[in-house]
Amino acid sequence: MSAQAAQRLGYAVVVLDSDPLSPASQITPFRVPQAWNSVAGTLELAASVSVITLENEWVLPSCLEKAEQGGCRTYPQSNTLQILGDKLLQRQCFYNHSLPSPKFRKLSSWDDAHQASTEWGLPLVLKSRKGGYDGYGVKIIRNAADWAKVDVLEPKEWYAEEHIAFDRELAVMISRAPSGGTAIYPVVESRQTVDGNRCDLVIAPAPSITEVAESMAKEIALRAVEAVVGVGLFGVELFAVGDRMIVNEIAPRPHNSGHYTMDGCITSQFEQHIRSICDLPLGPTDLLAPVVVMANLLAPSDGLFDLRKATAAALCASSDLHLHWYGKQEMRIGRKMGHMNLLGKDIQETISRAIAARAAFWKGLT
Ligand code: ADP
Repeated sequence: MSAQAAQRLGYAVVVLDSDPLSPASQITPFRVPQAWNSVAGTLELAASVSVITLENEWVLPSCLEKAEQGGCRTYPQSNTLQILGDKLLQRQCFYNHSLPSPKFRKLSSWDDAHQASTEWGLPLVLKSRKGGYDGYGVKIIRNAADWAKVDVLEPKEWYAEEHIAFDRELAVMISRAPSGGTAIYPVVESRQTVDGNRCDLVIAPAPSITEVAESMAKEIALRAVEAVVGVGLFGVELFAVGDRMIVNEIAPRPHNSGHYTMDGCITSQFEQHIRSICDLPLGPTDLLAPVVVMANLLAPSDGLFDLRKATAAALCASSDLHLHWYGKQEMRIGRKMGHMNLLGKDIQETISRAIAARAAFWKGLT
């Protein structure tokens, strides 16, 4: 979707991907057919473009560093990715910048985690330092029996974190241009699936947020992005405890909690991302309706699908929905396949319409 936004602004996009059918490869005819985390591939890409960006934070910082050394601009920069690609380094960075953050501990052995749970109490959160997404890589230890599930894992690849009994999860998208411009989107609420791991709905603006909480969330989110010397677009996830904000994590890219901007804001997060990395003036972030609801389309099962039938069913349920399907080749249970945006006036009514349209979509698929 970043590639589509770049093309709209007149840029030619080259994708580094060995898969000719990946979502980004389907958008542009220009492709370096190598692995997206290979140094050789990144250098070949760097030779043909003036700026490199990414859509996942698992790209190796060393790849970006090599491109930077050769004079190619990369946003986010390699030093930012170095911190954000490892959740423990991210926590340490927030701590060093006095940002409100859960207590955390590096682990040399599982004894260190047991010690943390003795000091902080249960539940205890264990997080994979690298490669986690959508809650894969987050384990919550609630009782003695849960320890057995982690015993088989390598403790050095994980770290321990204090469990926060938050009231809700908020998020803020922030864009920073190389020459210094900053754009901050409204504070949104992100609601998770019943298993607690994947984003289910995003509601913009966060329902009944106070002015104090909103400005606190924006200020802390901006400080967090500045702490990692972020240039480009960033999604900052926060835990809200009353009006108090605690930083969960930063994603250095367009983010699921910013998908609502595609139809719900004057400037979509993808266009803002391209504007920032190309050092163009940043766009306004105002909402286009009193309420915007984004509903994720998480695959209910594995297998094949009839997209046309499902889209028709969803459009029957709500003719004004905006449907985005990512073109992933394979549907696996729980996988994010797309999302829907709905604009409305009333929060509950818009949420209900989004949920009904989504149910109709999945029903049409079977
Ligand atoms: P991922 O990058 O895989 O999405 P997160 O760190 O965002 O991982 O965690 C996924 C979810 O787990 C969060 O959205 C939140 O609901 C829960 N969670 C994560 N950290 C904590 C914590 N310290 N306390 C309580 N819940 C947490």
